[in-house]
Amino acid sequence: MNSKSSNPLLSFGQGLPNYREITSEHIEPAINELLKKAELCVQTCLANPHSPTWRDFIEPLENATEELGRAWGVASHLNSVADTPPFREAYGRMLPKVTAFWTSLGQNLELFKKYKAIKASSEFAQLTSAQQRVIENSLRDFRLGGAELPDEQKSRFAEIQERQAELSKLFSDHVLDATDKYVLNVTEKSELDGLPEDVLDAARQTAQSKEMNGWAFTLHFPSYFPVMQFAKNRSLREQLYKAYVTRASELGPEYGQGDAKWDNSQLMLELLALRDEEARMLGYANYAALSLAPKMAKTVSEVKEFLETFAQRAKPFGQKDWDELTSFAQKNLGIESLQPWDMAYASEQLKQSLYAFSEHELKQYFPLPKVLEGLFQIIQSLFGVKIEPSNMPTWHDDVKSYQVLNASGQVMAHFYIDPYARPGKRGGAWMDDARGRKKLSDGSIQTPVAYLVCNFPPPVTINGQTKPPTITHDDVITMFHECGHGMHHMLTEIDALGVSGINGVEWDAVELPSQFMENFCWEWEVLKQMTAHSQTGEPLPKDLFDKMIRAKNFQNGLATLRQLVFSTMDWRLHSEFSANQAQASDILALSRRVNDEIHVTPQPDISRWINTFSHIFAGGYAAGYYSYKWAEVLSADAYAAFEETAQSTGSVVNSVTGNKYRQEILAVGGSRSAAESFKAFRGREPEIDALLRHGGLS
Ligand code: ZN
Repeated sequence: MNSKSSNPLLSFGQGLPNYREITSEHIEPAINELLKKAELCVQTCLANPHSPTWRDFIEPLENATEELGRAWGVASHLNSVADTPPFREAYGRMLPKVTAFWTSLGQNLELFKKYKAIKASSEFAQLTSAQQRVIENSLRDFRLGGAELPDEQKSRFAEIQERQAELSKLFSDHVLDATDKYVLNVTEKSELDGLPEDVLDAARQTAQSKEMNGWAFTLHFPSYFPVMQFAKNRSLREQLYKAYVTRASELGPEYGQGDAKWDNSQLMLELLALRDEEARMLGYANYAALSLAPKMAKTVSEVKEFLETFAQRAKPFGQKDWDELTSFAQKNLGIESLQPWDMAYASEQLKQSLYAFSEHELKQYFPLPKVLEGLFQIIQSLFGVKIEPSNMPTWHDDVKSYQVLNASGQVMAHFYIDPYARPGKRGGAWMDDARGRKKLSDGSIQTPVAYLVCNFPPPVTINGQTKPPTITHDDVITMFHECGHGMHHMLTEIDALGVSGINGVEWDAVELPSQFMENFCWEWEVLKQMTAHSQTGEPLPKDLFDKMIRAKNFQNGLATLRQLVFSTMDWRLHSEFSANQAQASDILALSRRVNDEIHVTPQPDISRWINTFSHIFAGGYAAGYYSYKWAEVLSADAYAAFEETAQSTGSVVNSVTGNKYRQEILAVGGSRSAAESFKAFRGREPEIDALLRHGGLS
């Protein structure tokens, strides 16, 4: 079992594993062996008395850690798409060991010294710019991890990290507990007018699981939101809304939350103070400035101005949406003064009255094979490559593999598509790296390989006949999105693994290539080629397409302002707010000021939305929430280059612009800054106009 030949996790070398052969028993021996090998390699590299070079230091270190990383990547992948109890157990057993290894690398000061020595050596100037960037990124990460702090500050730094992790965990536990604790039981069906059947079924099931009669609603979004959206009963909406927006706050008990013990106010204050302290220790003026180190945005004021300009441009459209909504509610719903708990309901009614179309009917036009054919066609035409089926071993019969060939017929990448939901497969959609591009020591190229994973409904077989699976337009967008990440990974031409493809790309720019691809899903010339009704084979009718387009931007002014309130609040908390001299109530006061400046509707007195803002207090988005809008601006503006081409050529699927995009954005990967890549493609800095135009805000 331990021998290399019989363990498929050890025997695949630079190739790809036979997923079919891998079982839970292979994980522990393989990972233990590779961990040992990687640790030994670190020792050997450190023991080498000669001054470090790329060949003697970075290359062997990278090879050993890549081998571990790839085997572990296969185990993680299978854990996500083909989970079984023994597999999960074996994986869970090794996870702490693997995590500890990576953490120890990042904190190894001897390694840090070697990196610094290469940077200072005469060799550095002779390295490729991609290799230089690999070294610079590593140095940056060591510094951000506290490697350069004087010894007496190191324990405090570690303490800060630990306490932050603890507080973040508490924050999300409180949100979860406050969400779980609440339940609203309704026993009269007449109180539930307007709710769709499937929502009622789910509420009945919830009631049964809690041994209640009738229907039960919780504050989990899939239970909460349909009530806001569809329930005619205004007081029901109000009751649930108030419970929702006071979760994890000092108002908890008043609205039936049970206890104020889940109040997050003090935690937020302490977290902000610790982040500020961390930033100052590392020599930054505040946490926002620190967080920008690995990002595309360069200065705190650049992000601040970006958000302000965006808000100013969007505000009139938010006002227009609000006026439309309030007057509709007065005339058609008899609601004189629109309250926060009326908004989703009134919006849904207004949307129905303006753009009603059946999602179910629309779905019939998107059989998955036809969608994939259309998607591949676009990629081939844009980037001058060819996509062909390939027959690599996979982990399930539904999974297909493909190869990407360049114009001269050479294979430059492979990818897998795992399209359907099934038991043992994690939900959602993602692209992951199965192997990265790099130049091997013999001069040959290791080509990149990607996993594209979705969770579309599987095909249905009735009387032995399997119907071609159809997916929703949202699913089509998801497929394009993940494929956009995939192209970033696969069409790279960089030889240094640390910055090839998506590696080393600043994280506020990572979504550029994925969101870029989504735009094609809203083009008539693309959709009419990519659709065929599951029964009649007819393409999508133009009038249905027109309705889709109108519905796409429905109330986008209000939605955009809301996102800008979140982003601005996050930014100010991490750049201007002095948590050390503040009280918990000051955070609430700031949230109100931010809302009043940006939004067109006042923040309700009872709203404590900031107390459940997990993205910034428990997720990885502290001083990073702006990046959603930031990346949207980049992708929309990049796409606008194709719209401009279409004005003279008549088509957005243009190979000249496509090739330029491929060379300047995709091929270079993380080997230079995203700002440089964008400018090289577009010939100028990013502008927000295209995003505003696409969103009906201009
Ligand atoms: Zn994405």
